[in-house]
Amino acid sequence: MHEYSVMKKLVTAVIDELKDRDIEKIIQVKVEIGDLTFLGEEQLKFAYEVLSKDTILEGSKLKLIKKPAKVRCSECGYEGEIEYSDDPAFHYTVPVISCPRCESKPDIIQGKEMNITGVTAEEVE
Ligand SMILES: [Zn+2]
Repeated sequence: MHEYSVMKKLVTAVIDELKDRDIEKIIQVKVEIGDLTFLGEEQLKFAYEVLSKDTILEGSKLKLIKKPAKVRCSECGYEGEIEYSDDPAFHYTVPVISCPRCESKPDIIQGKEMNITGVTAEEVE
């Protein structure tokens, strides 16, 4: 399961980040997820639950924020979001992305990333 290995990296990164601080409990971890990662939200949440068990993250909530894909076309100068149908097949294969204006192949400037944008913690008084 792809989601599991992605989430494992993320959970490890969060724990690593927190280990030198006096934190008792994590309440929420906020993660931005690009549309072009094609990761299943349910699978990610499930993996998070499994991986956070017996760690400082146990019992915390994973909040996923979807980020739309953005492209920049060097042919016609288009910059912005793209349209692609939400075909279930996209969850298995990466779709061909084309510029909505001229149909050439644009550069993807947003949508393939997954970033931790916030961790809500309860600090030790
Ligand atoms: Zn174009």
